[in-house]
Amino acid sequence: MAYRGVDYLHFDSLLSAEERLVRQTARQFVEERVAPIIRDCYRQGRFPSELIPEMGELGFFGANLEGYGCAGMSNIEYGLLMEELERGDSGLRSFASVQGALVMYPILTYGSQEQKQCWLPRLASGAAVGCFGLTEPGFGSNPGGMLTSARRDGQEWVLNGEKTWITNGSLADVAVVWARTEEGFGGFLVERGAPGYTVADIHGKLSMRASVTSSLAFADCRIPEANRLPEARGLKAALSCLTQARYGIGWGAIGAAKECYECAREYSVMRKQFDNRPIASHQLVQEKLAWMITEITKAQLLALQVGRLKDQGRAEPAHVSMLKRNNVAMALDCARLARDLLGANGITDEYPVMRHMCNLESVKTYEGTDHIHALVIGERVTGVAAYR
Ligand SMILES: Cc1cc2nc3c(=O)[nH]c(=O)nc-3n(C[C@H](O)[C@H](O)[C@H](O)COP(=O)(O)OP(=O)(O)OC[C@H]3O[C@@H](n4cnc5c(N)ncnc54)[C@H](O)[C@@H]3O)c2cc1C
Repeated sequence: MAYRGVDYLHFDSLLSAEERLVRQTARQFVEERVAPIIRDCYRQGRFPSELIPEMGELGFFGANLEGYGCAGMSNIEYGLLMEELERGDSGLRSFASVQGALVMYPILTYGSQEQKQCWLPRLASGAAVGCFGLTEPGFGSNPGGMLTSARRDGQEWVLNGEKTWITNGSLADVAVVWARTEEGFGGFLVERGAPGYTVADIHGKLSMRASVTSSLAFADCRIPEANRLPEARGLKAALSCLTQARYGIGWGAIGAAKECYECAREYSVMRKQFDNRPIASHQLVQEKLAWMITEITKAQLLALQVGRLKDQGRAEPAHVSMLKRNNVAMALDCARLARDLLGANGITDEYPVMRHMCNLESVKTYEGTDHIHALVIGERVTGVAAYR
């Protein structure tokens, strides 16, 4: 039977017809194109690159951006899109998040006219792929410590350093790379094949297996001055991109949670133990399902409110921190509870639950760990920074 969503509190009545239409388009794409292949992709440790052109055609990349071939969706529509993609797999949503929020957004916001014209239409259609290099081997939660440097040499910049854990790294035609310069931190567009630029994939992942994760190395890598993002001044510019991506993650996690909840609910009604009674007839089982649906419903309302604030230009990074932190933790807890309710079957990939659970471990860590977002919220409510 086709998936009809999880809507305990008539959440859909808060959505417009256009918003529901965007969600339906994404849902159909995931049902028809992702669901049939994702288990094998995960087994093989392969990102389904063959879906990129179709996702571009459907307007999934940079969907909440305006102009240059972008769909110009509202932030609610964009959030609903991310939710459906992540119901398919966190790797698919990660691809779209990186492409839109971490590559197209900085080019649109901090790029030159030439950079926008060169890259945005191609990234929007999926003809080109991008990645975002901020994390380094020694600097994850604290990117301000980064060692990667960019030195001006005439009309060129010379980059040295290493970035790691980079989603889409080896797929990317262009990398948005953050580096120290004499004037502070800056953003640079490093194109595939630039001299001194090499990429190697990270293997052995037990999470995000249907996603490409790479390390990028720069050894006297020379790029023209025209590839510096002229308006990206300071680490604030990099962090502003992360706020965009975290917003999508906050919605995406709901999709993974819903898939796990729905799977556990159906299973508990069907699975019989003790006197041929469904396990759903036991109070301990019902309590878990009640917890899940309550938390999913609260997460939906949180996402909707942050989305509305974002559409009004009132969403603060600390609001987005609450959304990302709460919804990802909620989704991970739902996945773990669902895994439990499925018993031994829960550990196989016959069911999507363990795949989501493993993915969500990454989602909890990337784009600011759960701890770091607690500190952002803590600073917002006390005025005292506690990062060090
Ligand atoms: C699958 C995947 C994809 C990724 N994609 C990208 C990408 O595309 N681009 C990119 O730039 N990066 C990417 N990352 C990197 C990601 O953003 C970092 O892993 C993340 O920022 C955490 O950094 P770290 O792993 O170095 O952990 P660390 O910073 O070493 O943290 C380890 C632990 O210490 C805790 N900790 C650290 N500092 C504090 C503190 N002050 N107070 C309390 N606790 C603290 C953390 O919360 C965490 O629990 C990706 C990571 C993964 C797993």
